[in-house]
Amino acid sequence: MDFKYTLEEETFREEVKNWLAENMKELPEWWGCRDIARPEIDSKEYLDFSIWWHRKLNAAGFLGITWPREYGGRGGTIMEQVVFYEELAKHRAPSPFNVHGMGWIAPAMLAFGTEEQKKHFIPRILNCDDIWCTLYSEPEAGSDMAAVQTRAVEDGDDFVVNGQKVWTSGGHYSDWAVLLAKTDPDVSKHRGLSYLFMSMRTPGITLRPLVQITGHADFNETFLDDVRIPKHQILGEKNRGWYVATAALEFERSGAGAAIQRENTIEDLIEMARKTERDGQLLSENPLIRQKLAQLYIEVNVGKYTDLRGLTKLLREGRPGSEGVISQLMGVGTGQRLQLLAMELLGPYSQLMRGSKYAFEHGRWQESFLQSRGSSIATGTPEIKRNIIGMRVLGLPRSY
Ligand SMILES: Cc1cc2nc3c(=O)[nH]c(=O)nc-3n(C[C@H](O)[C@H](O)[C@H](O)COP(=O)(O)OP(=O)(O)OC[C@H]3O[C@@H](n4cnc5c(N)ncnc54)[C@H](O)[C@@H]3O)c2cc1C
Repeated sequence: MDFKYTLEEETFREEVKNWLAENMKELPEWWGCRDIARPEIDSKEYLDFSIWWHRKLNAAGFLGITWPREYGGRGGTIMEQVVFYEELAKHRAPSPFNVHGMGWIAPAMLAFGTEEQKKHFIPRILNCDDIWCTLYSEPEAGSDMAAVQTRAVEDGDDFVVNGQKVWTSGGHYSDWAVLLAKTDPDVSKHRGLSYLFMSMRTPGITLRPLVQITGHADFNETFLDDVRIPKHQILGEKNRGWYVATAALEFERSGAGAAIQRENTIEDLIEMARKTERDGQLLSENPLIRQKLAQLYIEVNVGKYTDLRGLTKLLREGRPGSEGVISQLMGVGTGQRLQLLAMELLGPYSQLMRGSKYAFEHGRWQESFLQSRGSSIATGTPEIKRNIIGMRVLGLPRSY
């Protein structure tokens, strides 16, 4: 592994740094100041802020760095993308929005879409003109994603879709959705699926919000009743949707910059321990707390170098391979342990949420702790990730 960056990459890093130094001045005061409460994450104010920042990043040419120029991308390299996300995390700047669109839907569209689909949708995803959500999971199909029961039946120029989806993140503010549906019920479950997409304003779609332990309603149940989707709104071939969905999941599991965000968190926890007293002693002087901080510091760094090994593989082989799953499994676990330690450092104050005048930093740690619980489920549970590592990385036989 070569840890050095090329001259071009360092020049690009300077460009990003300079841009961030200049443009982060425009961020609202609450972004950088822990003494001011942030707007609720599911509020209109936070949504507008996220879209505004996303568009600024796009206008500066920092989004879709590796995507072709003809579809609005930068036509740059994977390393430029890595450098961008590194600097974003180091500066503690807000992340781009349109997470599903940017994370896996546009990459899947670039890989499987028609020329017309790419020309129309990719620039709109990049500029957050269309926000996208993902309709895969169902009450009886989560880890076993291929078990979806939502049916798409051909009728003239359309598919007519009926079924129920669940855990639709951001469905209530999304403009478009990708949908995994059964188009052939008579073959084995992996062979009869198609990867369709539709406007969220299509008649027959009903959303019901689901409130999480954070108190926010980012999720939805989505009911589909005789929803008509034009046949051309399909990615890849009919009945080959499983192939498109699994390729899209690979993109989803290949994150960048997350290791630096964990570095930021451990630094924050060390600072918290230096400032917090318990029983007349600073927590940073308590041997048990010191050991826990040191252990997590080590984990954060092991995760960072594991990510870099994955990156080396990506650079050599051109695809985010299954090894990315190892990084994600480790990163999510470390992230959750960091949040748990924050609760331990806060002691009895950990129970005070936003709204209490005694809540530490307006309850932002409580919120991130509660939020972190779902992070080990969202992109596949740890058990499923271990199964993938066993089968695809280690080549072990299938156990179920
Ligand atoms: C924050 C968050 C955001 C999400 N956003 C979306 C979204 O936008 N769109 C969407 O479609 N879905 C979304 N999901 C749903 C997510 O993809 C599913 O929750 C996930 O795939 C797990 O499915 P499940 O909840 O049905 O659990 P189940 O699959 O029922 O699993 C229950 C338990 O059984 C274990 N298990 C299941 N199968 C196996 C196996 N073969 N081997 C070993 N153990 C097994 C699991 O590890 C788990 O512990 C989101 C979830 C979260 C938490």
